[in-house]
Amino acid sequence: MVLTGCSMVENTVEEVITPVVEKTETIEIEEKTTPTFTPTVVPTITPEPTEDLIDVCSPLVEYAIENLIEMMSNPYNPPIPGSDDPHQGVDFSVIDPDLRIALKGSAVQAILAGEVVMVMNDRFPYGNAVLVETPFHKLPAGWKEKLVIQTQPGVFGTSPSLTCPTGWDFPDQENNDLSLYILYAHLDTPAVFALGDEVDCGDEIGLIGDSGNALAPHLHIEMRYGYSSGIEGSMAHYTVSANESEMRNYCRWRVSGWFRLLDPMDLFFTNPNP
Ligand SMILES: [Zn+2]
Repeated sequence: MVLTGCSMVENTVEEVITPVVEKTETIEIEEKTTPTFTPTVVPTITPEPTEDLIDVCSPLVEYAIENLIEMMSNPYNPPIPGSDDPHQGVDFSVIDPDLRIALKGSAVQAILAGEVVMVMNDRFPYGNAVLVETPFHKLPAGWKEKLVIQTQPGVFGTSPSLTCPTGWDFPDQENNDLSLYILYAHLDTPAVFALGDEVDCGDEIGLIGDSGNALAPHLHIEMRYGYSSGIEGSMAHYTVSANESEMRNYCRWRVSGWFRLLDPMDLFFTNPNP
C-alpha cells in the first residue's frame, strides 16, 4: 500500500502564554503631616482712654444734691427768646422751721471746677455774684452727653425786650469752643475771688444772702451753655449806675442767645459719671 504522502499533522498544541502582567504595586506613601499648632491668640487689650471722673458738688454745703428739690423756693421758668422774664435760674432757700422765714448765712460752694470770669459786687440785679466758666472738655461725661444734644447757641434775630447798648458784636462762631457757665447770685457779701481765679468743686463761693434784686435770702443758680471766653468782668442792668460794659454783658448773658439757658435741676439730676 502506498502511502499517500500524507503526513500526519502533528497536532501541536500551541501553548498560549499569557504574559504575566506584573502588577505594579502602587505604594501609597503616606504623607507625614506635620501638625500645625494654632497658637492661642491672646487678645491685646487696648485700654479705653479712661475718662477722669469729674465731681459735681451740691451748691449748698449742708445739703446733698438729692435734697435740692426740698430746698427749691422758686423753680426755673425760662423766657421766650430775647425776653428777660420770668425766671432764668432756680432759687434755693434755707427756711427756719419755726419762724418759716428764709435764712441768710448757709455756705455756698462751687458745683464744678472752673475759672472765675465774672465778679459782681452789689450790682443790680444779681447783687454779690460770681460766674464760673467750665470748658466743655472739662465737664463730666454724663453732662457732656446732655449738652451735645442741645442746639448750638445762636444769636436771636429778635430785638431784646430791654435797652441794650448798640453795636452788638458777634462771637466767632466758626472757631469757638463751648463752655458751661454757672452763676451764683445774691450772696451775702462780695466775693473774695478775682477774675481768672480757679475754683474746684466744693470750694466755698460765699454765703446765702439777699443782695441785689432779692426779696428774701436765697441762692440763685443760673446755668448757660455758650461760647467760651464770651463774657468777662461784671454785669448790671436796670440801674443808672450800670456802665456800658456791664449793660453789654448783661444783655449778652440774658437775651442775646450766645448763651443757651439750661434748667439747673435737669443737670443736677443727670448722673455726671455714668
Ligand atoms: Zn432766682
